[in-house]
Amino acid sequence: MEGSIFKAVIVGAGPAGLTAAYELSKQHAPVVVLESDPQYVGGISRTVNYKGFRFDIGGHRFFSKSREVEDLWTEIAGGDMLDRPRSSRIYYRGQFYTYPLKPFEALSKLGIVESVRCVLSFMAARLHPKRNPKTFEDWVSNQFGERLFRIFFKTYTEKVWGMSCHEISADWAAQRIKGLSLASTIKHAFFGNRKPNDRKQVVKTLIATFRYPRLGPGMMWEACTEKVRKLGGEVLLGRRVVGCRFDSTSNLWVVTFRNANGDLEEYRGEHLVSSMPIRELVAQIEPQLPEAALQAARSLRYRDFLTVGLIVHDRSRFTDNWIYIHDPSVQVGRVQNYKSWSPEMVPDAGYCSYGLEYFCFEGDGLWTASDQDLIELAKREIQQVNLAASADVVDGCVIRQPKAYPVYDDAYQQHVNTIRKAFDENYPTLHLVGRNGMHKYNNQDHAMMTAMLTAKNILAGTRKYDVWAVNQDAEYHEAGEGGAEALSVLRTDLREVPARVSWAPPRSPTSRSPRR
Ligand SMILES: Cc1cc2nc3c(=O)[nH]c(=O)nc-3n(C[C@H](O)[C@H](O)[C@H](O)COP(=O)(O)OP(=O)(O)OC[C@H]3O[C@@H](n4cnc5c(N)ncnc54)[C@H](O)[C@@H]3O)c2cc1C
Repeated sequence: MEGSIFKAVIVGAGPAGLTAAYELSKQHAPVVVLESDPQYVGGISRTVNYKGFRFDIGGHRFFSKSREVEDLWTEIAGGDMLDRPRSSRIYYRGQFYTYPLKPFEALSKLGIVESVRCVLSFMAARLHPKRNPKTFEDWVSNQFGERLFRIFFKTYTEKVWGMSCHEISADWAAQRIKGLSLASTIKHAFFGNRKPNDRKQVVKTLIATFRYPRLGPGMMWEACTEKVRKLGGEVLLGRRVVGCRFDSTSNLWVVTFRNANGDLEEYRGEHLVSSMPIRELVAQIEPQLPEAALQAARSLRYRDFLTVGLIVHDRSRFTDNWIYIHDPSVQVGRVQNYKSWSPEMVPDAGYCSYGLEYFCFEGDGLWTASDQDLIELAKREIQQVNLAASADVVDGCVIRQPKAYPVYDDAYQQHVNTIRKAFDENYPTLHLVGRNGMHKYNNQDHAMMTAMLTAKNILAGTRKYDVWAVNQDAEYHEAGEGGAEALSVLRTDLREVPARVSWAPPRSPTSRSPRR
């Protein structure tokens, strides 16, 4: 199709890119999706197949407060969607605690001495809370007491984010934990998680069931790819986009990519839809953005992630979907049990496949360790947390995911605003969508909703919808007059990812670093 002019050239075959392609193709708009991965569609929501065993990049629950997104999932993968019960626990110092926590079970497992300490520390925190809590540690300790903070919040949070709870800003805790107050936890413990009539009232973290494609989330995005192709759209793998130039004579985007043979090719389109990380996009745009925007893009940061997949003889040690590892003696942050997500994730019922999740930074010791060393580490740690004997592990693989989490540091919001302003002023036919595409720590539903609205904008020929006004629940809220200078809806007080406090009281650093 070289030489043709597409309605939209779309970068990335993750949920955002494929949703945009599908919505546009349904309206007969010619599209091409360029994906750098040579094998998989789905992006972070892909499913990796290793010798018939399937692994997600972190188990992917399909749950949205948006009816439109739920309906689209049904439209794409209807018959293949399972309703799965959710079961997860916390491992801490040799014990497993049901999650969401059941207070009486938790206290009985902690033992009488520790329980009394927890209750006393909770009462002390209520009577003498730290005034103006600025850090995650202070905020959570005020809510639950310092001892419960140490047991149930500190280690996991530090593993995930790679920074001490003492450095994480309190506003993030207030956001993340607000639906999960002690009151709601206790209510849940006594009355269970009854289905509210209105799905919008559901506390997402506490949902008791969720949908899941029988062969993992990748199945959804493979089905979507097929539908796009059937409608005449193109989805091309092994194509890394390396240049995005706006030609003001033709008013077209000229998108250059490296194909599977390493050769450069280019496609042209009226619109460019990008789900690639903003940092990379800004570096590729021609004519260049102003220096302030280039500088802002260079300042955006990411947290990376790797999964060690282990194939294990099934000795029925656990059937949870996943287990949070709060124990500080191991590096693994969470263990997924994919057979519990769907029995079809394993090709032989005599085995199960575990995903041991390690949060890291590209280039650090974990990231650069050899696959063999990581598999050995995972084998040791799975035994240490009592979920399998290392002798039962028969094989393993390592899946690295760069830029798994866009980092929200103190300045990220300002950087994103600067970049957006530069794009808005210079490139009305450029559309940012999705997680790293918008530097938004979101789930699939948010990524999809931004893509659905983008498709509507492209078809309407005007920015009717402000995609930055889609909230973390994938709900669209009008920003006010004229789409209201959408910058105003970028509220810095609403964080889903922790920011580093600009001020932290002096203290010796603790060990190493959201619950999803
Ligand atoms: C550990 C973990 C657990 C999660 N759990 C859930 C969950 O339970 N439920 C849920 O709904 N969501 C979950 N998510 C979030 C979900 O994975 C993302 O929201 C979703 O995948 C974002 O979609 P996207 O299309 O915006 O981006 P991505 O999935 O990142 O896709 C972007 C695509 O663009 C491609 N690309 C990038 N640069 C280029 C380039 N230069 N040229 C060509 N292609 C390029 C990438 O290869 C990728 O395929 C989880 C995420 C993580 C990290």
